Amino acid sequence: MIKKPVIVEKWQKKNKFGRPGIALNYTKVAMHYTGQADVPGKNTVSYFNNVVANGYKVNGKYIYASAHFVIDLDGTIYQLIPITERCYCTNSANSYAIGVEVATTGKDNHYTDATYRSMVWLAAWLCAYKGLNPLKDIITHTDVVGKAYKLCPIYMVKNPSKMAQFKKDCKYLVDGKVSVNQIVNCTNGKGKVTIVPTTTTGNNKTLYVKILQDINIHSKPDFTSKSVIGVVTKGGVYTVIEKIKRIGTDMYKLKSGVYITASPKYVEVFEK
Ligand SMILES: [Zn+2]
Repeated sequence: MIKKPVIVEKWQKKNKFGRPGIALNYTKVAMHYTGQADVPGKNTVSYFNNVVANGYKVNGKYIYASAHFVIDLDGTIYQLIPITERCYCTNSANSYAIGVEVATTGKDNHYTDATYRSMVWLAAWLCAYKGLNPLKDIITHTDVVGKAYKLCPIYMVKNPSKMAQFKKDCKYLVDGKVSVNQIVNCTNGKGKVTIVPTTTTGNNKTLYVKILQDINIHSKPDFTSKSVIGVVTKGGVYTVIEKIKRIGTDMYKLKSGVYITASPKYVEVFEK
């Protein structure tokens, strides 16, 4: 289970316009954008909690709107509504979705690095908490209402490959394949596709190592007796996450975090 991100609580009072107090058992996490680039997310929090919640009319009609979470330009995550209660964020999906509003930046409404990291962390945690699969259970507002109604979040709807990468980043975090610090913002033009350190083959296959003779396992990438922490026995198969280039014999780092020799005399590698 991934660690819960730091959340700043800005609880909304119970009110019929944003926090009706209806129970929610969520099965989806719906992503939104706050609507105007470079406006701080805390303004959105204040709008929901201090304006809409008190009864706010536009063209003579009350606005019904809120979000469980708002993520700011500096990455701060605000929570307005408990995850066990409905909010008014995602139209017909309000009965089953968490609503996450996210502040954006620039002409194209992409995300700051801090915002992107918080988005991945929060959405991944919300999925992990309920055993949801980020690849299918993170949705956009537009997935629910259709493009004719609203492009939301507009950057993700216009760049579906970035939305796909965002969901993958969430999945990698849930699966422990990357840490929060390794999350790379795929939306800022400087970002690159997240490198998942489960392969050294460069073709998305996983590298395995089969042990040919009993060998030592090491806590560090060296062969000194001080670093020996145990033995792996002949016939065992392990996942390689990295090949360590050394002077002399190279070593493999295994998924469990230990190191073994890369000498073909003792081990055989294969991809799958
Ligand atoms: Zn929306």
